Amino acid sequence: MSLANKLADERRARLAAERLLELKQSELSAANRKLGRHALALTRQIGETQAEVATVRDENEKVKSDLTVANEKIEIAERRLWHSIQTIQDGFAFYDVDGTMIGANTAYLGLFDGLEEVLPGVPYARIVQLMTDEGIVNTENLGAADWRAMMTQRWESPSPEPIVIRLWNQEYIKLIDQRGHGGDIVSLALNITATVHYEADLKTARQKAEAANRAKSAFLANMSHEIRTPMNGVVGMAELLTDSELDEEQLLYVNTIKNSGEALLVIINDVLDYSKIEADKLILHPEPFDIERCIHEVVMLLQPTARDKGLDILVDFDLFLPTRFVGDPGRMRQILTNLLGNAIKFTASGHVLIRVTGIHDKGDDFNIHISIEDTGIGISEDKIEHIFGEFNQVEDDRNRQFEGTGLGLAISQRLIGKMGGSIWVDSEEGKGSVFGFKVTMAKADGPEAEPPALPKGLNQAMVVGEQSLNRTILDKQLGQLGIEVTICSSGAEALETMRDGIDFVFAEHNMPGMDGIELAEALSTGKSSEVPVFLISSNPGFAQNDPARQYLHAILQKPLSRNELFTRLIDLKTRGSQADEAPQPTEEVKETSQQTELPEPTDKPRLMRVLAAEDNKTNQLVFRKMVKTLNIEIQFAKNGIEAVAAFTEFQPDMIFMDISMPKMDGKEATREIRKLEATQGGHVPIIALTAHAMDGDSDAILAAGLDHYMTKPLRKAAIHERIQAHYPEDVQPIAPNDA
Ligand code: ADP
Repeated sequence: MSLANKLADERRARLAAERLLELKQSELSAANRKLGRHALALTRQIGETQAEVATVRDENEKVKSDLTVANEKIEIAERRLWHSIQTIQDGFAFYDVDGTMIGANTAYLGLFDGLEEVLPGVPYARIVQLMTDEGIVNTENLGAADWRAMMTQRWESPSPEPIVIRLWNQEYIKLIDQRGHGGDIVSLALNITATVHYEADLKTARQKAEAANRAKSAFLANMSHEIRTPMNGVVGMAELLTDSELDEEQLLYVNTIKNSGEALLVIINDVLDYSKIEADKLILHPEPFDIERCIHEVVMLLQPTARDKGLDILVDFDLFLPTRFVGDPGRMRQILTNLLGNAIKFTASGHVLIRVTGIHDKGDDFNIHISIEDTGIGISEDKIEHIFGEFNQVEDDRNRQFEGTGLGLAISQRLIGKMGGSIWVDSEEGKGSVFGFKVTMAKADGPEAEPPALPKGLNQAMVVGEQSLNRTILDKQLGQLGIEVTICSSGAEALETMRDGIDFVFAEHNMPGMDGIELAEALSTGKSSEVPVFLISSNPGFAQNDPARQYLHAILQKPLSRNELFTRLIDLKTRGSQADEAPQPTEEVKETSQQTELPEPTDKPRLMRVLAAEDNKTNQLVFRKMVKTLNIEIQFAKNGIEAVAAFTEFQPDMIFMDISMPKMDGKEATREIRKLEATQGGHVPIIALTAHAMDGDSDAILAAGLDHYMTKPLRKAAIHERIQAHYPEDVQPIAPNDA
C-alpha cells in the first residue's frame, strides 16, 4: 500500500474517530442533562414526601390525643351508666349470647340473697338451678325441675314473655328479658310486690262490693216479692168490692185503692226486674212468637189511655217482613210497653207511631228495627244522655206531673242488651221523640201470614180519614198489594169522589163533620150502596146497639194489624161484596162474645170440683170471692200436705197451687200428687200461683209437674178463663151467673 493510501486511511480513521468522539460527547451531555433533571425531580419529590411525613406525623398526634379524649369520655359515660344502673331500685343485668352474665347491678345480685356464686361470669342455667336448690324462688304449683325447664325454655325463645316470680320472702319480681342484635340479653327484674298487694286488695274490695251489691239486689228482689203477696190481697179485694153495691163516693174510694195498688205493683215489678238484672238473675226464655201480635197486644193494653188523651196509635209493620220469630215474648212485651207507655205518657196531642222494619241477615236471622215515634214534649239535648240511667227522669217543672220510677228505660236498655241488640233515642224538645231499638231474631218455623194474592176485580180502594199518617200507612200497604188507592180526608170528600170501580172503602171512625158510620150510611143510599165499608175504630166495641152499624161491612180495630188486613181482603175475595150483611165483629169482639155466652142448661149431675191450695187467709178469701159467681164446688188447703190429702179425698177436677206454702211447698205437693197418679192413673190439671215468677222458677215449676202458672195478683177473668179451660164434660155448667 502506498503511503498516500495509508495517510488517506489514517485521515479517514481519525475523522471517523473524531465524529465518534463528537457523538459520544453529545450523548454524554444529553445524559448529563437528563441526570440533572432527574436529580431535580428527585429532590422535589423528597421535599414533598418530607412534607407529607410531617403532616401525617401531626395527624397521628391529633388522633392520639382525640383517642385519649374519647377514651376518657367513654370511661365517664360507662361510669355514669353503671352509677345509674346501680342507683335504680330494680335489678338490671346483661348476659352474652351464650347466657353468661356479663354484668349486673347490686339490686339484681341482691335477689340471690347473697349467694357468692352469682357474679358476672355465671351462666344463666346455673342461676336458675341455684334459685330452686337454694329455695330462693317459690315455684308455686310447679316442681323444681319443671320450673327450671319452663324458665330455660322461656330464656331461649327469640322474645321471652315477661314473667312474674314469687321469692321466698313473698316478694314478687317481674322479669323482663330482651334479646339484643348480637344475641345478648338485657334482663330487668322489677320488684312489683306493692302493686301485687294493691291489686289483691282491690280485687277483694271489688268482690266485697259486688257481693254487697248482689245482696242488696237480692234483698230488693225478695222484698218486692214479699210485698206482692199482701198487695195481691189489697188489689184483689178492691176488685171484688167494685163488683158489690156501692154508692158513687164509695166506688171512687175503692177504685182509688185498686188503682193505687196496681200502680204500686207496677213499681214493685220494676224494682224486682231491675234487681234481678243487677243480681244477674234475669234469664231470657226464647220461644217462637208473633211479634206483630205482641205489638198489637201492647197497643190494646195502652189504647184506653191513649184514647182518653185523644191520641192516635198507629202501627206501620213492614208488609213483607215475617212476623213469627224466636225471642222472649214476655220481655219483648215489657220493652214495648215501656216505650209505648212513655210515648203516650209524654204526649198530650198528636200521635204515637210504631214502625217495624227488618232486613234479612244470614240464615234464618233478621235484623229487626222497631221505632216508637211520638209528638210529645220531647227531651232537651242536655238531658237526653241521662235518661237511660236508673232513676233518671228529666226532672223539671214540666214533667213533675208525670209519674214513673225512672227505671223503665234502664230496664229496657238492659233487656235489649241481653237480647244482643241496642236502643237509641232521637228527640227534639217540644216536638217529640223517637225511641228505636234493633234486635236480631231468627225467623220461627211454622206458617207465616203471607200477603194475599188478590182476586181479580179487587183493585181499587178508597181510604177516608182525617189523620194523614194513618191514611199514608194504609195507602202504602194497599199499594204494595197492588191496589190503587183513592185518598179522602173527610166524609164529604169521600161522597163527592166516590165513583164506579171502587171495590171497598176503609173509613176512620172519628172524623169531624161526618164520621165513618155516617159516611157508610150516606153511601148505602147512593149508587155505591154495594161497596163494602170497613170502619177503622180505636173503640170497636162502641154503641153495640147502634142500628147504623148495619151499614158497615166490618168494624176493625185500630191500629189495623197486617193479619187483619190480609184476612179481610181474602174474605172479600172469597165472599165478594156483601154490603148488606150484618157487621162482622173483629177477633177481639168475637172473643168476648164467646166468653160471655151462657152455655145451654143441662141436668148434669155434679159440680166441677176445684181445689185451691193457698196458705194466706186474705188470698184465700180473694180467691173464694173471685169464683163465687161460678157454679163450682171449691175447697181450700192451707199447705202442701193438706193439698195432697184433699187430692185423694176431694178428687178435684183441677187444682190451683200456691208455690210457697209452709210444711210442704206447691212443687213438692205436685210431685206427690203426680206420684199418686202414676199408680192410680189420671192427670189433674195443676195451675201454679206465684207471687212473681222469678227466673228459673217457671222452669222448675213446670218441671215439678205443674201444667201452667199464673202470677199474682190474681185476676178474676184469668181465673175464670183457666177454670173454663179445664171444665170437664160431665159436670154442671159453670157459667158465671153475673156474666
Ligand atoms: P219513667 O217513665 O218511669 O219516669 P223511664 O226510665 O221510662 O222512667 O224514662 C226516664 C225519663 O225519660 C222519663 O222520666 C222522661 O223524663 C224521659 N222520657 C222517656 N220517654 C220519653 C218520651 N217518649 N218523651 C219524653 N220524655 C221521655
